[in-house]
Amino acid sequence: MPNTVPFGPFVAFAEVALPVPLPQTFSYGIPESLARARTGFRVRVRFGARSLIGCILEMREEAPRLPAGAELKPLSSIVDQEAVLTSSQLELARFIADYYLAPPGLVCRAMLPPETPREERVLYHKVKSPVSRSQSPAASRVLEALTRPMSASALARALGKKSITGTLAALVESGLVERKHPGGGGARTVRVARITEEGGRALREVKLQPTATRILTLLSTSTDPVPIFTIRNELDLGKAGPFRALAKKGYVEILVEEFRRSPWGRLAPSEGTVDVALTPAQQDALEAIQRSISTREFHPAVLRGVTGSGKTEVYLRAADAALAQGRSVLMLVPEIALTPRLGALLHARFGDKVAILHSALGAGERRDEWWRIRQGEAKVVVGARAAVLAPVERLGLVVVDEEHEGSYKQEENPRYNARDVAIVRARNDGAVVVLGSATPSLESYSHAIEGRYRLLTLPDRIGDRPLARVTLLDMREVVREEGPEVVVARPLREALAARLRDGEQAMVLLNRRGYAGQLLCRKCGLALQCSECSVAMTLHRNATLAVCHYCGLGRATPERCDTCGGEYLRLVGYGTERVEELLKSLFPESRVARMDRDTMRRKGSHEALLTRFASREIDLLVGTQMLAKGHDFPAVTLVGVLAADSALSMPDFRAAERTFQLLTQVAGRAGRGEREGEVLIQAFAPEHYSLQFARAQDFEGFFESERKFRRALHYPPVVSLVNLVVEGGSMAEASTLARRAASFLRKGVPEEVKVLGPAFAVRSKIAGRYRSQILLKLSRREHARARAAIRAMLKDEELLRSTVVDVDPVTLS
Ligand code: ADP
Ligand code: ZN
Repeated sequence: MPNTVPFGPFVAFAEVALPVPLPQTFSYGIPESLARARTGFRVRVRFGARSLIGCILEMREEAPRLPAGAELKPLSSIVDQEAVLTSSQLELARFIADYYLAPPGLVCRAMLPPETPREERVLYHKVKSPVSRSQSPAASRVLEALTRPMSASALARALGKKSITGTLAALVESGLVERKHPGGGGARTVRVARITEEGGRALREVKLQPTATRILTLLSTSTDPVPIFTIRNELDLGKAGPFRALAKKGYVEILVEEFRRSPWGRLAPSEGTVDVALTPAQQDALEAIQRSISTREFHPAVLRGVTGSGKTEVYLRAADAALAQGRSVLMLVPEIALTPRLGALLHARFGDKVAILHSALGAGERRDEWWRIRQGEAKVVVGARAAVLAPVERLGLVVVDEEHEGSYKQEENPRYNARDVAIVRARNDGAVVVLGSATPSLESYSHAIEGRYRLLTLPDRIGDRPLARVTLLDMREVVREEGPEVVVARPLREALAARLRDGEQAMVLLNRRGYAGQLLCRKCGLALQCSECSVAMTLHRNATLAVCHYCGLGRATPERCDTCGGEYLRLVGYGTERVEELLKSLFPESRVARMDRDTMRRKGSHEALLTRFASREIDLLVGTQMLAKGHDFPAVTLVGVLAADSALSMPDFRAAERTFQLLTQVAGRAGRGEREGEVLIQAFAPEHYSLQFARAQDFEGFFESERKFRRALHYPPVVSLVNLVVEGGSMAEASTLARRAASFLRKGVPEEVKVLGPAFAVRSKIAGRYRSQILLKLSRREHARARAAIRAMLKDEELLRSTVVDVDPVTLS
């Protein structure tokens, strides 16, 4: 190839996606020696002072245009002999980066083999028995400091120098020091942390760094030791966290737990059977899916089946059909906790062809599963949202179960909605996509009734079991009768007592964890607030600990009001912890357990609890929305819901939809066995349409009303949204930046796009950062141009640093 580039003998050029949170790829030259580089290869490159590992997203024959003064660097080396990312993944990565304005490097990173390090990590070791030779003083100092294997930057820091690359290179050259690439990632162990008594005391009495406080708070609200990766995820700590320092002080204990358990959950003997005869409705749905798999026509299907109608069986048979054609299957569930059961069902039918993929696997397991998929050994992949990025080839079927769930949305960088990405992936790969739910999202169901998607329906429960009978309890009346402190109304108490006496099982759902909702001062009327967020703190652990559910900070519950010094503080509202306590005292004979984030952080704890419930070791299960999802317990005949309308007061356009979905799902847990089920719902505003339609279990009715509301107020699915949150160190700074962003956007977007704001975000401060919000309302037609305008706006470095762009937000609060 003729090469007219002045700055080097490059044979071609690569756009490399690097693991940095910036919205672009980076150009590098490909030297002759690395001419075999192609898209999908992992490569090492210099990036500032660092050596990063990234992936080639695009190849170019012509030199990229660089800003004046910039120099085109070469790729340093290639990691693999061939492309690790498949062409399907590359195509998807480009889509996600473009549509969600997500950093391409972070998107690729989520697709690469899980063991891929972010940075080229080289550790320097002293050679054991070196030939003695005289050293320069600088070299002697390096040798002295090298008491254990260390990275170049750690060494430099230890010596108080900026860089010691030259000295190190000389030492390596003379054979006194060796370079090694650390292995790792192979172990099937997890590190878990547990708070000590000392740590509990520190949390109450010592002024600690915010991150340390957050970690201790989380550990002290947890009933079990918590895996470090869970803590990092929940608190957004990335790879960091002062765990070692906390352990040194004696505040936490770090333990290593091994897990030898198979990733497959246990099945009841009746489950996993292959030979049930499908109902006519199942048969029709299956045939439609099978036809699409054969013809490869792209036509997404919405499978709307009431709870207990046998959707899973349709997925399994459809998977069978895809495999029979030599094609692969991707099955997504909305939460990691739901993977074991579906995984076990798949494993029972398809054996070793099944791989499970999610972030809570051990590093070794994850790596093994990734490569089994990449090499085509595993043809059925089940997992939570990130599994949509898996290196599956010859895809024939993608199933998104409970497609309406907001948890398909990844709320941290790279932001994307796995349900929507699944649809794009199916289209790219010529696969069929099935969106299953008893309560499809407004988006999907609109597509279905307008004919863009195919609608498949399972209208009845298996075995003609009736849906549960639902009653709404008007809490205004209950309060009049029983007083304002009532938590569980008399009709629900009596129903629970009767069912438990008859040896049946029951569930009580309350979508708020903790002990009490707030701590109010009777003198000034203000609630105890988080110091870093504009959010009232929730009380935990018998109300001894106040916790911010947004940033995780916690503190001992104060004795006096922060604002006015008033002494009379009152607990307001209640959470699952208090309801558990209350039910235990109401039903001392019954075995009561709780399922919420605080009791479920440990690996396998969710499954273990469900197994105990299924085998009737627990009579009454209290919990948050975790209870509502996808379980099949035939002995549950009664479900109670407390504060069913609490979400409706949130300023969020999906509040009604979420309320309806949650109630329908949880009602679906009752009466799946021989005996009819009953559901009692407590609410202060039972006349709200979302509750009325949930009571009638009338999805169509709800859908029509909700669509009218969305149309009137211009919300999805009638329009698309892009939400921009601009953060600053003060409210003034956030507002100034947001105004600049908004005026930029008003000039840049097509005229038809509505730019609303800036306005204070619903949570105007989170974790010490003030937040201002700009909302774009637009149609699909204008979407690409609006994104281009946002991209142009983000060229402003200050705005880039302070703006979070959320395309198709699931929530605006
Ligand atoms: P859904 O996911 O729609 O709520 P499930 O797939 O969990 O429902 O099915 C409910 C129950 O019915 C499960 O125990 C399942 O094994 C059983 N089932 C499904 N299809 C059939 C069938 N055709 N005949 C008998 N039992 C079935
Ligand atoms: Zn906070």
